[in-house]
Amino acid sequence: MKTLQELIRPNIWSLAPYSCARNEFTGEASVFLDANENPYNQPFNRYPDPLQVQLKEKIAALKGVRPTQIMLGVGSDEPIDLIFRIFCEPAQDNVVAINPTYGMYGVCADINNVAYKQVNLNDDFSLDAQNVLDACDANTKVIFLCSPNNPTGNSLERSEIEKIVTGFEGIVVIDEAYIDFSNEPSWLASLNAYPNIIVLQTFSKAWGMAALRCGMAFASEDIIAFFNKVKYPYNLNLLTQEAVLKQVEAVEQKNKWVETLLAERSKMIANLQNLPLVKHIYPTDANFVLAKVDDANKTYTYLVNKGIIVRNRNSVTLCQGCLRITIGTPQENQELLTALAQMV
Ligand SMILES: *Cc1c(COP(=O)(O)O)cnc(C)c1O
Repeated sequence: MKTLQELIRPNIWSLAPYSCARNEFTGEASVFLDANENPYNQPFNRYPDPLQVQLKEKIAALKGVRPTQIMLGVGSDEPIDLIFRIFCEPAQDNVVAINPTYGMYGVCADINNVAYKQVNLNDDFSLDAQNVLDACDANTKVIFLCSPNNPTGNSLERSEIEKIVTGFEGIVVIDEAYIDFSNEPSWLASLNAYPNIIVLQTFSKAWGMAALRCGMAFASEDIIAFFNKVKYPYNLNLLTQEAVLKQVEAVEQKNKWVETLLAERSKMIANLQNLPLVKHIYPTDANFVLAKVDDANKTYTYLVNKGIIVRNRNSVTLCQGCLRITIGTPQENQELLTALAQMV
């Protein structure tokens, strides 16, 4: 790995962080006259904890990492954007990502004026590490991997990811938004072994809190320190911090949801496979299935007219003819299957 100083943009490396009032004082006090807040309208009058100490302690215990290895963002979309702003000099550096994958990496690259180089997965959506490494040059700062991958659903092979993590001099992002639905081990266990990885997870999927906007980035303490310098000081509002904390304390509920969704996923796959219009179901480790159908556009429009919305991936590389179907409640899944069975 290159040194962090070589990887981080010079202006960010030398940045003096904004020191907010709530950051400067830590300890016990009862009179807060330091932040120009209104003393009335509790609890919304006070700025929230900028470093989310309580919540991170709970997440750290759950995930087996140190609180200082965690950055919490407004969804994982915030750390994705911060990765560009911290590591990538606009109009000079580039990033490499697998294709197809989550669209947000490319959007953030465009917004930050950073070249986005895509490397196609194999036809079965497996990863060829050498192809990814071959696409990198001296200005490649970050490689984006997503496992289980969206929209394909499969996990990338661990040994191939490892070749990239060990063979690349820069930062490797491993987006694990769907890890709760997979039997594959998380890369979190390797966080201490590989100082160049950033693992992303989210409360938006298995945890059922997409509306609250809370994502997690896990990395070395040195990298997390830069996330904390660059993020908005009060990025996570009070209601989000409180609600996520409560849910993290109720991890068994999340595990039950996952169990239910995995059982529904098996049923969905079996039932879809019985439909003549379904040509192929790709293996999935996520809470969705990618299905190749006779005519994706026609099927998509037919379902829309029945009030059922799936994701049409027909125009995505390697996904021609494919619909991405999220696993819903048993009733919702049955509605979809019934509608598809009635399609002529
Ligand atoms: C849904 C998803 C996310 C989650 O984004 P949030 O901003 O946390 O809601 C991240 N990565 C991938 C690959 C996803 O599919």
